[in-house]
Amino acid sequence: MLKHIITTKCDRTCSYCIMKNVSVDEKYNLEELHDLYATLAVDFEQIMITGGEPLMHPIFLDIVEAARLFFKEVHLTSSRTEVAQDPGIASLFDSVTITFHSFEHIPKVNPCVPIYASIMEGDYEEILPMLFKTMGYAGLTINENHWEPNRIRFWDLPKPNNFSIRLNESGKCCSDMEMILPNLEVIDSFEKFMECENEPTCNTKTLELRRNSPVHQEF
Ligand code: SF4
Repeated sequence: MLKHIITTKCDRTCSYCIMKNVSVDEKYNLEELHDLYATLAVDFEQIMITGGEPLMHPIFLDIVEAARLFFKEVHLTSSRTEVAQDPGIASLFDSVTITFHSFEHIPKVNPCVPIYASIMEGDYEEILPMLFKTMGYAGLTINENHWEPNRIRFWDLPKPNNFSIRLNESGKCCSDMEMILPNLEVIDSFEKFMECENEPTCNTKTLELRRNSPVHQEF
């Protein structure tokens, strides 16, 4: 699946955030985005809109609308738990993954699309898969911490019926995966991007984009 990191901005400050050392400008050029999506849709049927916190992007809905035009499936990852209950946002996508940072309030899911929960490995408790299933979630993804040793083995995890369990191994979730950065550059390994910090073009693939017009709308 293609990932589009539409922003690195977020209103949280998680210590384990893989974006914490990353700084890249955002480009709000819809015409260029359409050209890029048209090119990439030749090879990809699915796109994941992600961040940072994608709902903070000033033209979030325009980006989603563009993605719907070109890709067969459009998915969202967000840390806004209210999206789980908001059919106005959730129904724009084929699935939504909500990243949880505490479990004091796990909202019951509005079942208009599959909603998945995502947590960090350090927050994992054995009760969570069944708890999320009871609240209507379609599955749980456990993300290993890029900065710390890992302690969970997939085969040790409980696996309730009709509920997907996934362990995102650190180093594997972002390597060998095509990604669009907020400045609309395309890379094929986020790990190399993290190493580059402020030089995101060091692993950038050059894409030949067909543009019908030299005029691009800048926001
Ligand atoms: S919510 Fe996600 S993007 Fe935001 S700081 Fe935490 S890990 Fe990073």
